[in-house]
Amino acid sequence: MLNDPEIIRAAIRKAHELGADVVGTVPAKRLIDCPSAIAEKRPGSQDRGTYIVLGLSHDPEHPELDLWEPGRGTPGDRILARIGKDLARWLQEEYVVRARLIPYRLEDGGIYLKDAASLAGIGRMGHNNLVLVPGYGPRIRFRAVWADLDCPEEPSPEGEDPCAGCEEYCIRACPMDAFCTGTYSRERCLARMSTDKKSGRERIDHCRACELTCPGGDEA
Ligand code: SF4
Ligand code: SF4
Repeated sequence: MLNDPEIIRAAIRKAHELGADVVGTVPAKRLIDCPSAIAEKRPGSQDRGTYIVLGLSHDPEHPELDLWEPGRGTPGDRILARIGKDLARWLQEEYVVRARLIPYRLEDGGIYLKDAASLAGIGRMGHNNLVLVPGYGPRIRFRAVWADLDCPEEPSPEGEDPCAGCEEYCIRACPMDAFCTGTYSRERCLARMSTDKKSGRERIDHCRACELTCPGGDEA
């Protein structure tokens, strides 16, 4: 019989087999007062279990992964959801561990995914408010599976500031001036997204300027 840390290691291997490009884990309780939860005055999680954070590369050579459709989200997110569901089912069948895919949207019971990825040690938050992941930069999307497992408490790894020495191409590229106050303005970015959604196009290629101009994290 495997103990919880051993099952978590097996789950990480399984998530890679299922197609995730990067995988990390974080105790659920660490999300309760994560930076986004504090900023938005909204508790970010429950206090029990582990989040297994799954990342899928969104290479600009495959822009179709990111095309958003009303009621369907994006193909990339559907791939991540399939990986997450398969992983949750596998944990239940293989180890009789309760597990479930976490909804994408906070409003539906989701979590602060970028905070979770950072706390799981997958990457570090850049000035563009995206997680810069070694080998992928910010060109990656996340989902999470919750599992009723005790995750070892490990401090988030320290590392160099991924934006050190950068000329802030992300900030200069933003068509909405969403960084004009020195921090990311969700409202300004969302205004761009809602304009896109009203365009009437069947599949919407949302703005990725702050992501696609960023050289951070490119080196593995
Ligand atoms: S463009 Fe430069 S400053 Fe902006 S997130 Fe990327 S590395 Fe950081
Ligand atoms: S996605 Fe576009 S509008 Fe939103 S912050 Fe990035 S560059 Fe600005």
